[in-house]
Amino acid sequence: MPLYDTPAPERRALDLSGAEIDALLDRACDLARDYWAGLDAMPAGPRSTHAETTRLFARPWAEGGRGTAVLEDFKTIATHARPSTGRFFGYVFGSGEPVGAVGDLLASVLNQNCGAWRSAPAAVAIEQAVIGWLGEAIGCPGFTGSLCGGGSAANLMALAMAREAKLPANEDGARPGIVYASEQVHMSIPKAVALIGIGRRNLRLIPVDAGHRMRVDALEAAIAADRAAGLTPIAIVATGGTVATGGIDPLPALAAIAAREDMWLHVDGAFGVLAALAAPELFEGLALADSVSLDAHKWLYQPVDCGCLLYRHRGVARQSFSHTGDYVKALNEDPAEAFPFFEESVELSRRFRALKLWLSLQYHGRAAFRAAIGRDLAHARLLEELVAARPELALLSRGRLSAVCFRHRDRDNTALLRRLLARGRVYLSNATIDGAFALRACFVNHRTREEDVRLIVSEVLAAGAEVNGAA
Ligand SMILES: *Cc1c(COP(=O)(O)O)cnc(C)c1O
Repeated sequence: MPLYDTPAPERRALDLSGAEIDALLDRACDLARDYWAGLDAMPAGPRSTHAETTRLFARPWAEGGRGTAVLEDFKTIATHARPSTGRFFGYVFGSGEPVGAVGDLLASVLNQNCGAWRSAPAAVAIEQAVIGWLGEAIGCPGFTGSLCGGGSAANLMALAMAREAKLPANEDGARPGIVYASEQVHMSIPKAVALIGIGRRNLRLIPVDAGHRMRVDALEAAIAADRAAGLTPIAIVATGGTVATGGIDPLPALAAIAAREDMWLHVDGAFGVLAALAAPELFEGLALADSVSLDAHKWLYQPVDCGCLLYRHRGVARQSFSHTGDYVKALNEDPAEAFPFFEESVELSRRFRALKLWLSLQYHGRAAFRAAIGRDLAHARLLEELVAARPELALLSRGRLSAVCFRHRDRDNTALLRRLLARGRVYLSNATIDGAFALRACFVNHRTREEDVRLIVSEVLAAGAEVNGAA
């Protein structure tokens, strides 16, 4: 007889009986199973209005509980959610692999606080192991780091480390060091520059070449001009896959400049660097970075959230995020047992994000992830070919990752995109390419099949036919 069936002398608030736990889990499993089984029949994007979701979910919190019946809300929620179908190509959004979802459930069952080894021994050991796998997978063996909420959090921590390494501010406040990134940089970088207090006016946006890669000559000129003006360059942020087109900044050249100029090199790889698993040749020079951010909830198909920051110098992480400095003295004599993630990260209480990776990456094995990423890349190349073959369409990008931008030559593409989303068979987002509105498809989706890629083109043409008037 399971322990929880032992008759309890009193029933405390929030206690569940064994039978209630069974009912809860059985229903949750059925709902998850039905959701995954029904994905193919679902529209590619949410079709809800704000008024509708407000009406459905703006409810008072009642005094009495609804019990297991509350789970039936899941079906309504799923109807008004962004479905994880293979025909969703918007933004950079991973497909939410089921083993990872089960990992999230089990992580919450264990309810570990991964702030330090002594509060979560197995979970911290697993996070350290998974961090080792990720570093090795992208060609950065020996890097250490931690999991976090996403690329934005990872970029923020990386820039805090860069500042602390080059122009320490933790004691006396920030001075305006200069940070360089390409004009295609993700918005999380200006946000991080603002948050670490050096001021967005000290972020230089360097022009890009035709492949949306930072121009090395322009970067060198900007650094020289800033030095001549008496300013202090502190960091280069390279993008390992720009969101719009997957452009990868020239990492070896940027690393050489960073070394020469005594600057920190951070690579924002939230979209792209996990593609190194399938195409390592695209990321030559990555291991020369001081820090790399990546998002397992994008190109490792994990449910959100699962970001990661990797870095070469643990000491700088300690210098940046350690507040007490006396962590080793607490309770444990052994420094390994005193290991504190919270001294190397902005988070103190930290959920057990590593469990989904531990389960998912081993359940499928490395070859399966390499194959899925390879297929995403092949789907992007196929879409480029299909678009290039249609006289009505113009291909606007030829990236080497999985983002593809294009437009209809003689339709209002904004109106076309609205029609396309209303038709609901595929979901695309948009981007601005050389000043022009572009339709954008991004493949980080293990559920996508070749016919879904072909459907993008036929749906764009069909939506175009429904839009009156040229652009
Ligand atoms: C997605 C993304 C980010 C932000 O990551 P979040 O996980 O959404 O916080 C940063 N940079 C790039 C290049 C991205 O693609």
